[in-house]
Amino acid sequence: MEQTLQAKLESVAENLRKNSMEAYIAEDKAEAKEIVESLLRDGMSVATGGSVTLSECGITELLTSGRYNFVDRSKGKTSDDVRRLYGEQYSTDTYLCSSNAVTEDGVLYNVDGNSNRVSMIAFGPSSVIMVVGYNKIVKDLSEAILRVKTIAAPKNTVRLGIDTYCSKCGECVSISQGKGSEMSAGCESDSRICCSYLISGKQRHKGRIKVVLVGEELGY
Ligand code: SF4
Repeated sequence: MEQTLQAKLESVAENLRKNSMEAYIAEDKAEAKEIVESLLRDGMSVATGGSVTLSECGITELLTSGRYNFVDRSKGKTSDDVRRLYGEQYSTDTYLCSSNAVTEDGVLYNVDGNSNRVSMIAFGPSSVIMVVGYNKIVKDLSEAILRVKTIAAPKNTVRLGIDTYCSKCGECVSISQGKGSEMSAGCESDSRICCSYLISGKQRHKGRIKVVLVGEELGY
């Protein structure tokens, strides 16, 4: 890994540790997968909210390999089924996801439409593993807010085929209205994917959240 990037990841990792999270640095996708594997035990129950980063690292494949008890929300046929599966995900041993942004001073920023992922991060399983490409490291919370409005949300709405202003225009309507830095400013669409906003700072439960910082671009 290039020296400047290595130093940056080490600095962010140190600040995450100061905020009572565990932090790991992976050179690339393959090492990120190895670190995640080392944090899991065969037979344990695991869940994810669906993540491009986890797929890109081969971690989704690992979780569904049969070595773990994978609680799969996509198995739900009715909305009641899906809701029950979300409930089951709360009592799994480990929840895995990425983060929309990580600030240089070790704060996580996440925005959800359904809010299942932010609730899992805030108060779900006793272990949460996040895999984060270096492209998601931002200077501060203002940059984190802008990152979601100009990169994460537009790309995710296109990926999910959701008809919103950002899926068509490539940025949140709040940016076009000059209200970009207002966290909850956004569109009026019923399909809006920005509804719940979670800032994870200093944690009370030391080591519950584990962040694997990766020296490659991953996800949105
Ligand atoms: S509030 Fe609406 S337009 Fe803005 S980023 Fe979210 S989904 Fe896109």
